[in-house]
Amino acid sequence: MDLNYTDEQKAFRAEVRAFLEDKLPKRLSDKVAGGKRLTKADYEEWHAILNERGWLAGNWPKEFGGGALDAVQRHIFEEETTSAHAPRIVPFGIAMLGPVLQKFGNDAQKAHYLPRILNGDDWWCQGYSEPGAGSDLASVKTSAVREGEHYIVNGQKTWTTLGQYANMIFCLVRTSKAGKPQEGISFLLIDMDTPGITVRPIVLLDGEPEVNEVFFDNVKVPAENLVGEENKGWTYAKFLLTHERTNIAGVGFARAGLASLKRIAGLEKDGDRTLIQNPLFAAKMAQVEIDLMAMATTNLRILAAAAAGQAPGAESSMLKIKGTQIRQEINALTRQAVGPYAMPFVSEALDEGSNVEPVGPDYAMPATQAYFNNRKLSIYGGSSEVQRTIISKAILEL
Ligand SMILES: Cc1cc2nc3c(=O)[nH]c(=O)nc-3n(C[C@H](O)[C@H](O)[C@H](O)COP(=O)(O)OP(=O)(O)OC[C@H]3O[C@@H](n4cnc5c(N)ncnc54)[C@H](O)[C@@H]3O)c2cc1C
Repeated sequence: MDLNYTDEQKAFRAEVRAFLEDKLPKRLSDKVAGGKRLTKADYEEWHAILNERGWLAGNWPKEFGGGALDAVQRHIFEEETTSAHAPRIVPFGIAMLGPVLQKFGNDAQKAHYLPRILNGDDWWCQGYSEPGAGSDLASVKTSAVREGEHYIVNGQKTWTTLGQYANMIFCLVRTSKAGKPQEGISFLLIDMDTPGITVRPIVLLDGEPEVNEVFFDNVKVPAENLVGEENKGWTYAKFLLTHERTNIAGVGFARAGLASLKRIAGLEKDGDRTLIQNPLFAAKMAQVEIDLMAMATTNLRILAAAAAGQAPGAESSMLKIKGTQIRQEINALTRQAVGPYAMPFVSEALDEGSNVEPVGPDYAMPATQAYFNNRKLSIYGGSSEVQRTIISKAILEL
C-alpha cells in the first residue's frame, strides 16, 4: 500500500486549486467560511460552475456527463473544495440517484433524468425514512398500489432533507406485503408537484427547517417512474446507500473546523493570555488534531485499497463513527472557546440580508448553530449505535 500521492495526483490537486481560485465566487466562500446559511440559488450557482468544468458529478462516468474521477481524485477534490470553503455538492441527485439510474434505470429514464440532474432542472430529495422506518428501513409502509398505468401512493416520509427545494423525490414504497419485508419494496420516482403531496417543515435545534415531513394522499404516479423491477427496490436502495456512505469521514470538514477553532482560540482572551495559550484547552485541541490525523490516515488506507479494486466494507463504519466524534468535539470546543457569546444564539443572523445584529464577534455567531446542527451526524447515514453493531459483527466477529 502506498499512501503517497503520485505526480499525476499532485498535478490534479494543483488543477483543482487553480480552478477554485479562478471560479469559486468569493460571495459563496465568504458565506461558507462565515457559517452563513446557503440558499437554493447559492447551491444552484455553484453546481452550474462545477458542471461547466465537468466536475459536478465527479463520480459519474464520462458517457453520462460525469468527471470519471477515481476514488483518490475525488478525495483530493473534496479536500481542496472544503479547504477553499466551497459549498458542498447537494448529494441527492448527483451522489445518490444518478448512480442508481445508471445501473438499474431504463434507457428512457437515463436519457431524461441524468442530464436534468446535471443542468439543475431537477432538484431531488430522498424519501427513504418514515416515522416507523429509520434504522429499520425495511419496515417502510408507504404503499404504492398499481392501477392500470399508474401507482397510487399513500403514506408518509420524514426527515426529508431540503425537500422544500425539491421538485422530485425518489421513494422506497411498499408494493407487496408477501414474504420478507425487504422483498416487497419498490423504488419510485415522484414529481413533487403531483396533487396529493404535502410538504411540512421540521425546524431543527438550530432554528432551520433543513428537513421535512412529506405526506402522500392518493398520489397518482405514472408506472413508467418505477426504477428497475417491482419489489426489487431493496437491492437498489442498498446500492444507493453505498454511494451515500462515500466520503463518510468528512476529513475536509473536520480540517476546516479545526482551522477555524485554532483561529478563534488565538483571538479569544483567557485572563491575560489568549485561549490557545491555556494548556488545558491547548491539550484538548491537540487531542482532537491527533485523532483527526489518525482518521485521515485510515481514510487514505481505505482509499488506497479502493484504488486497488477492493470495495470498502465495514471500515466505512469506523470512519463514520470517528468522523462524527471528531466533528462534534470540534463543535463543542468552538462553542467553549466563544464562551458567553455562544449563549445568545440568534438564528436569523445567519440568513443573508438579515438585519438582526449578531451578538459578539462574527466568528462566534455560527458556533452554536454548528454545534446544534451537527448533532445529526450521529443519526443519519446509519446511527453510531448501528455502525458499532456492524463493526462488532463484521470486523471484531463478536
Ligand atoms: C438531519 C437529518 C437529515 C436526514 N435526512 C434524510 C433524508 O433526506 N432522507 C431520508 O430518507 N432520511 C433522512 N434522515 C433520516 C435518518 O436516516 C434516520 O433518522 C436514521 O436512519 C435513524 O432513524 P430514526 O430517526 O427512525 O431513529 P431510530 O431508528 O428509531 O433509532 C432511535 C435510536 O435507537 C437506536 N437504534 C435503532 N436501531 C438499533 C439497533 N438495531 N441497535 C442499536 N441501536 C439501535 C438508534 O441508534 C437511535 O439512537 C435524516 C435524519 C436527520 C437527523
